[in-house]
Amino acid sequence: LKAPLYADVAGDLDVSFEFFPPKTEKMEEQLWDAVRTLEPLGPSFVSVTYGAGGSTRERTHATVARIQRETSLAAAAHLTCVEATKAEIDQVAQGYWAAGVRHIVALRGDPPAAGAKFVSHPGGYENAAALVAGLKRLHPFEISVAAYPECHPDSPDMAADIDNLKAKFDAGATRAITQFFHEPETFFRYRDRIAAAGITAEIVPGIMPVTNFASVVRMSAMCGTDVPAWMARLFDGLEDHPAARQLIAATLAAELSRKLYAGGVKSLHFYTLNRAELAFAICHLLGVRSKPAAAVAAA
Ligand code: FAD
Repeated sequence: LKAPLYADVAGDLDVSFEFFPPKTEKMEEQLWDAVRTLEPLGPSFVSVTYGAGGSTRERTHATVARIQRETSLAAAAHLTCVEATKAEIDQVAQGYWAAGVRHIVALRGDPPAAGAKFVSHPGGYENAAALVAGLKRLHPFEISVAAYPECHPDSPDMAADIDNLKAKFDAGATRAITQFFHEPETFFRYRDRIAAAGITAEIVPGIMPVTNFASVVRMSAMCGTDVPAWMARLFDGLEDHPAARQLIAATLAAELSRKLYAGGVKSLHFYTLNRAELAFAICHLLGVRSKPAAAVAAA
């Protein structure tokens, strides 16, 4: 695959950023530093995750509402079906609508106990597709959903997983954001299968910069993401070199991104882990530059 030089990736790449809700004052500062640093890049939206079992319900709401209120950014709220009735979830969604939030990332979620099988709440939404339909009945939200280039661990096979993705689009979702993956070919193969299934909606690659290899190996195992052998070799010996790992994380994520771009991808979603400089550096390598304040405000 012939990828353009960094300087050639310019102008037509849309980016979006994912944050998580802060737990402490120090984390709150770090989050707002990230938001303010990335805001001038004019992302198409930024999203805020929702903790397992709704554990961050208030914090997610407070963060999303503040971004919506105090910045020029379009904020999206993640929302899951876990351990809540339809009425409770609908109430959270109504709160978002009232706060001016028009974009929801609708997910099934995982059970609070790691490794347990998902069981829907007796009065709740049974999966993400049902949640999308429920949200659409409330208001004309813009809705993003999750997609899995290496198949969701609960799915019997890729065909069933793609049927499930199709059900989410049929229920009213407008875009899917993928689970992270480490090789561009993984995404391209998935994109071909999606297209063959007749899905035409946008599938945005989710990019996870790898700064802590051990934790990425753990997360990859949980979500069925393959970790290539070259990556283990690359991070070997860097355990005590956090600064070097940051530089390598930026390089790898930019490399993956520009290969995706060379393959026709025009939108990327970055899992920022609330780190401003890393996401900013990756975007800079991709030719995404600060926009004049007026353009950001008008977007
Ligand atoms: P669904 O699309 O509902 O389905 C998950 C799997 O179950 C699919 O493989 C599907 O085939 C199968 N399935 C669904 N319905 C049925 C059925 N009726 N019968 C049989 N099988 C069925 N988690 C959080 O807790 N908070 C977050 O903020 C969060 N953000 C995320 C953002 C992105 C971009 C991604 C990719 C994931 C995120 N997750 C988050 C993780 C997500 O909640 C888990 O991956 C969860 O296990 C599946 O959620 P889903 O929305 O994909 O579920």
